[in-house]
Formats: sequence, structure tokens, C-alpha cells
Amino acid sequence: MGTLYIVPTPIGNLEDITLRALQVLREVSLIAAEDTRRAAILLSHFDLHTPVTSYFEHNKLSKLDRILEALEQGDVALISEAGTPGLSDPGYELIRAAIERGQRVVPLPGATAAITALVASGLPTDSFVFVGFLSRKAGERRRALEEVKAERRTLIFYEAPHRVGETLEDMLAVFGNRSICAARELSKVHEEIWRGSITAAIERFGAEALGEFVLVVAGAPEEARWAEARVQAVLREELEHGASSSEAAKRVAALAGWNKRDVYALLSKD
Ligand code: SAM
Repeated sequence: MGTLYIVPTPIGNLEDITLRALQVLREVSLIAAEDTRRAAILLSHFDLHTPVTSYFEHNKLSKLDRILEALEQGDVALISEAGTPGLSDPGYELIRAAIERGQRVVPLPGATAAITALVASGLPTDSFVFVGFLSRKAGERRRALEEVKAERRTLIFYEAPHRVGETLEDMLAVFGNRSICAARELSKVHEEIWRGSITAAIERFGAEALGEFVLVVAGAPEEARWAEARVQAVLREELEHGASSSEAAKRVAALAGWNKRDVYALLSKD
């Protein structure tokens, strides 16, 4: 029975591959790669000759059995187009299936844009929420932002360059003018770690955003959050006026700067 290795690859600078990643990529029987062309560039740069098969968003289910079969015969390395597989990249289904079959899964530490951006952002790193990509649909994007509006922890978003402007506008509308770090083209020639307010970010990137972006946004400010007693009181009022538990929790959460789950939890405390 083989091992499934989860192998991060560079997010720009090829020198960011680890020695262990190179060893694993050299020694496995098969590499399952999101992008076989990118994989070929990487493998040729490091003079590796391991067979590669594709595993990407649109064949990830049909390829699952074949990769699991290969895992019965030998070790397989999973790589994505860039960074850590499974993180806003294909990998989850394969990793789950391997775990369910009792296969050994070995993750290698390595490059990922989210953590690289976070640590340079100057925003609190002690606790954070990785939001990832927002929906392309305006309504869903706003709703997703509303859901994390009251979140006190630092927020990390991935965004495609052509949507950075719209996303910043939505963030301004939902969050207000918070601190933000736009980490652009990390580890590449045009790397830029830009820090400022959301309004200033719109001025800087609203019309034209080039390259790959991570947006790291400050969590909700302290004063936006009500004390528990106040939340309890308003919640009780809502329920007395006939709102369902779910409606009441949602409404109070939005007013109080709490997340809905935590308000809901108060209901069972009574
Ligand atoms: N699995 C990858 C990881 O571990 O970071 C993320 C893959 S996701 C499909 C691609 C997104 O990651 C980009 O749209 C961007 O938000 C972010 N990203 C990837 N490389 C980046 C870089 N060099 N600089 C800034 N952001 C990057």
C-alpha cells in the first residue's frame, strides 16, 4: 500500500521548493498534477523524470479511482498548479478518499500564498480566518462578506486580478473603511506588499489590478461588538415579538457584531 504525499510547490519563485519536496517528487511512482504543463516546467527545472498524470477541477472525480489504484501499487505525490494542494485547489476529494481507504497521507510543509501574505501584512497573526475565494456572483459575494463582517480575527481572501476592484468596493460597503494589505505577486519579480485603508486600496488597485493577489483585511473593531448581556436582552425581545430562533439570531448577530452561531448558542444557554 502506497503513501499519498501532499507536496506544496512554489507560488512564483522556483527556488522556494523544499529539498524534501524534490526528494519525494523524485522517488514516488506517480505525480498527480493539477496542471501538467506547469508540472513539466517544474520537473524539467529540477531534472526530475517521474511520470505525471492530470488531476484537476473537472476530472478530479473521474480520475479518483485511477489515482487510488496507483496508490495501491506505489507512492503518489499530489501537486497543484502552485502552492499547497487542497487549499483553493483540487486535492480534498483525493485526500479524503485516501484517508477513508486507510492509506497513509503525508503532508509536506511548504509554500502557500495565504500564510506568506498574512505574516507580512502587519495585521494580527495570532488568530485568523481563511475565507479563500469569494463567489463571482455579486449577491453571493456580498452575503459571504456579511457573514464575516463581525469576525474579529484577521481575514484572508484570495482574488483574481480582474475582480479585485469589485471586491474592494464590496468590502468597503460591508466592512467600512478598515485596514487592508494587498499582497501582490508574492515571491515574483513584481512582488508588492501594499498596506493602507480599503478606500486607498480602491484608489491604488480599483481601476487596474495586475498579477495575483491575496487581500488580508483587519477583523471587526472591538467597539462594534455588543456585550453578551445586551445581545441576550435584544434576542429575548425579538423572540417575544414572534421571530423564529433562526431569524432572531441572524438579526441580532448583524446588529451586535457577533457571528450568528454564537448568538444561536446563547439561546440554548437560557
Ligand atoms: N493553493 C494555492 C496556495 O496554497 O496558496 C492557492 C491556489 S488559488 C487557485 C490561486 C490564488 O492564490 C490566486 O488567485 C491568489 O489569490 C493566490 N496566489 C497564488 N500565488 C500568489 C502569489 N504569488 N502572490 C499573491 N497571491 C497568490
